[in-house]
Amino acid sequence: MIKFEKGVSPFVPTESDPGILEEIAVLKEELKDDLVILGHHYQRDDVIRFADVTGDSLILSQKAANMKKKHIVFCGVYFMAECADLLSADDQKVYLPDMRAGCAMADMANIKEVEMIWDHLTKGTKEKIIPITYINSSADIKYFVGKNDGIICTSSNAARIFDWAMERGKKILFLPDQYLGINTAISKSISEDAIFTLDRLPDEKAIEKSQVFLWNGYCSVHKCFTLDDVTKRRNEYPGINIVVHGECTADVVKASDAFGSTSTIIKMITDSENGSVWAVGTEQHLVQRLAKRFPDKTIMPLSEFGFQCVTMSMITPEKLLATLKEIKHGETKHEVCVSPEIKHYAKTALMRMLDL
Ligand code: SF4
Repeated sequence: MIKFEKGVSPFVPTESDPGILEEIAVLKEELKDDLVILGHHYQRDDVIRFADVTGDSLILSQKAANMKKKHIVFCGVYFMAECADLLSADDQKVYLPDMRAGCAMADMANIKEVEMIWDHLTKGTKEKIIPITYINSSADIKYFVGKNDGIICTSSNAARIFDWAMERGKKILFLPDQYLGINTAISKSISEDAIFTLDRLPDEKAIEKSQVFLWNGYCSVHKCFTLDDVTKRRNEYPGINIVVHGECTADVVKASDAFGSTSTIIKMITDSENGSVWAVGTEQHLVQRLAKRFPDKTIMPLSEFGFQCVTMSMITPEKLLATLKEIKHGETKHEVCVSPEIKHYAKTALMRMLDL
């Protein structure tokens, strides 16, 4: 029996009130000249149907900034709305329909703890350490990274960002996802002996011999997939293709046929032949949508359970409607605003990645 920790639950299909959906459609049409709605792949169908753009967090933020609409409603989680605010112009406002919709992984890296560990690491070696943060992190962590000559990565470009960091330093501090960190380090042929997970403080000897320090955060959803799930699917469907997100654990990634970002997963399945069979290790809303979109392929979750991100699912049609009503009335209760002092260095870290 699986024990579900904070941030993840079994997939629960939802039904929406048709009246609410109708109201959203009417209001969206009314506001259309000034409004863009962004929908992350893990949102429920009755939210994503209203999205003008769908994608992962960075692509959504970039597209929204380029569209120049005054109001950007981000159907996703808090760090994504912060990211959109970093990239948007001063006259654009970013809204999150539920301000409590955080990301369990991003919340695992607290700035005070990160600064304490940084102090310990930098005092323990003369070699330059480059901090990298996965985009799934708070604006505070992005600020810290930007201020310390570091950079942001996504699950699509983490390997390239490791190269960037190793050209500028001897060691990497990777935040906050230990699994994307270890999967990337292994893909770069970094020895597992030179990778230190910060579930304890390294002593001087460990600091000296380690090349990569991994913050011990993880995604509650992707961590649920296990090696047993991979074995079971391979036994049930000989010849099956198994693709998982880079936030899955290292043993799951090693046993799968491929790993990558949500965009990589979507592209691989889109480009595959009709009749192919897929087990997908990512959030269930996306897996379900892919299964519906490609009826000529067999697409199933990697686990017999479909796992859903609890905070992504906090964005409901009711909350989207309430946010649109606020915009109509000039209210800003759900506006996400990164403070100017944090923004400067957080954006520096982001632009280092985008300029590559
Ligand atoms: S799926 Fe994982 S990484 Fe994405 S928002 Fe949910 S907890 Fe965070």
